Formats: sequence, C-alpha cells, structure tokens
Amino acid sequence: MTSSEIRHREPLDIATARVPRGQVYIIPERCKGCDFCIVFCPVDILVFSTDINAKGYHFPIVAHGKEDACTHCGFCDLLCPELAIYTEDLNALEQEAEGDTD
Ligand code: SF4
Ligand code: SF4
Repeated sequence: MTSSEIRHREPLDIATARVPRGQVYIIPERCKGCDFCIVFCPVDILVFSTDINAKGYHFPIVAHGKEDACTHCGFCDLLCPELAIYTEDLNALEQEAEGDTD
C-alpha cells in the first residue's frame, strides 16, 4: 500500500462541527489596566488602547486584524478582577438566530 492509498478516518460530525468563535465585549470604565486579559489570552488578540478611561487607565481592545480570532475560551472573563471583559459564543448566537436549538 502506498502512502497515497492510506485512508484517514474523519470525525463523524466533521460536516457540522464549528470552530469556537467569540465576540469580545469590553467595559472600559471598569478597567484598571492590570493587563491580565492581554497577557493570558491564548491567541494574543488583545492590546492596550492608546485611549484612557476616566480612572486614567489604558484599557484593552481587540487588535486590528484579529476581530475574528477570539475562540470564546472565557479566560479573559475568568481572570479580570473588575468584570470588565467578557465574550459571547458567536456560533450559539448564530444557531439561535437560525432557529436551531441543538
Ligand atoms: S475569550 Fe479567550 S480567546 Fe477570546 S479574548 Fe478572551 S482570552 Fe482571548
Ligand atoms: S483583566 Fe480586566 S482590569 Fe485587567 S486590563 Fe483586562 S479588562 Fe482591564
């Protein structure tokens, strides 16, 4: 058997499986600029804004070009001491909009 003849098994749900995607929400006025969310985001999509909030802190924003890169892992939400950042599951929102509740 040649290497081109080797067959690979595909996951049974490959046609319906979706890569996790998240929509990031940031509440700038709550942020104290600790940078936990920026440092620990596993896909490095967060950076400090050049703007500052009313407390005088730079707050995170999603880096330019990485708007679609959040995996909705929830790590930023978990780590933020000020509850200033959270994400929503984009796939679930889309399924809800399509009327698919599976
Ligand atoms: S949910 Fe995860 S991937 Fe998305 S911004 Fe937060 S830490 Fe990064
Ligand atoms: S973890 Fe929270 S408080 Fe710290 S920089 Fe991120 S949003 Fe701001």
